[in-house]
Amino acid sequence: MAVTLAQLKENLGETVQTRVKLAPYTNFKIGGPAKFLFEAKTSEQLIKAVQVANEFKLPLLILGGASNVLVADKGYNGLVVLVRNNQWKIEGERVTAEAGVNLGFLVQQTVNKGLSGFEPLVAVPGTIGGAIFGNAGVPQVPKGFIGDWVESVTVCRDDKLILLNREECGFGYRQSAFKQTNDIILSAVFNLKIGSKEQSQELIKKYIAARKGQPYNKPSSGCIFMNVSITDEVDVRKKFAGEEKLDEFIKRGQLPSSWLIDKAGLKGKTIGGIQVSEDHANYLINIGGGTAEQVVQMISYIKQQVRDKFGFQLQEEVRYLGF
Ligand SMILES: Cc1cc2nc3c(=O)[nH]c(=O)nc-3n(C[C@H](O)[C@H](O)[C@H](O)COP(=O)(O)OP(=O)(O)OC[C@H]3O[C@@H](n4cnc5c(N)ncnc54)[C@H](O)[C@@H]3O)c2cc1C
Repeated sequence: MAVTLAQLKENLGETVQTRVKLAPYTNFKIGGPAKFLFEAKTSEQLIKAVQVANEFKLPLLILGGASNVLVADKGYNGLVVLVRNNQWKIEGERVTAEAGVNLGFLVQQTVNKGLSGFEPLVAVPGTIGGAIFGNAGVPQVPKGFIGDWVESVTVCRDDKLILLNREECGFGYRQSAFKQTNDIILSAVFNLKIGSKEQSQELIKKYIAARKGQPYNKPSSGCIFMNVSITDEVDVRKKFAGEEKLDEFIKRGQLPSSWLIDKAGLKGKTIGGIQVSEDHANYLINIGGGTAEQVVQMISYIKQQVRDKFGFQLQEEVRYLGF
């Protein structure tokens, strides 16, 4: 029998809502209604929500900052949980943070305490949980990913709490083991290094300045595609002979998707309310009234164009939810 709002309220409290439009909660400002929505303000509430979803066999969708997701126009026919547990502490070089802590905020706190390591993450929107899920970071910088600093992650798996060490998290470029499991990330411990507050603040300024020109204040989902790994240098050199930045890309081992999309002449391409950003071609902007359906069409079009022109298959970084 279908679970009712009253049953969920009985288990999770009066704050559970029903038929709530998800678009305002997402950075893209896209997404239909959640059948049920619950804001978990503590880890206990988050665990309870997982248990309740299991008990009532209710599909469960976890959202952190919703800055890397595309929620379907039809919404989500289950329980959407907004992760808002936000306790954190810094003891020496060890930083412990719950999944709902804002990443940029935590970066600032570590720098204030004279710790170094997190600076490249300063401009990545979203939460600790979302960042661990996708191993967020900056590929151009050594140790530029959040996973590089993880000591352990505590997750809720099938109603049990499990402590995973860094190796068990399976971090890679935009990858983690959590993309294959249904684990709910509750908190993480990081090991940073003692640094100089002044130097870290300078670095932060540098990383923020490097974002200038990126469409930060427009509704988007960040980078839509992952960068392309260079597996055949000879082929790449042949295809892009004479390109100014080629040596830099080859050294890094990746062709930026933004560069490929730009080279394919797609900046400014518009489908309905969705546009390929003029500033950074790997961003799709919701210029007003954009729908998930239009984003899907645009993604498909870009993939086809880049494949036809350069022979590379782009892969999405953005997560499709509710499709
Ligand atoms: C302007 C802009 C700039 C960006 N720049 C960068 C960048 O430089 N580098 C980068 O890596 N990313 C970047 N992103 C993408 C995005 O900010 C990151 O991927 C971020 O880490 C996502 O965190 P979130 O909390 O918003 O996750 P969400 O978008 O809420 O979720 C992403 C995925 O993680 C899952 N998830 C979230 N929390 C949990 C949890 N507690 N337990 C289990 N699963 C969970 C969700 O179900 C979903 O599948 C950018 C995005 C924008 C809009």
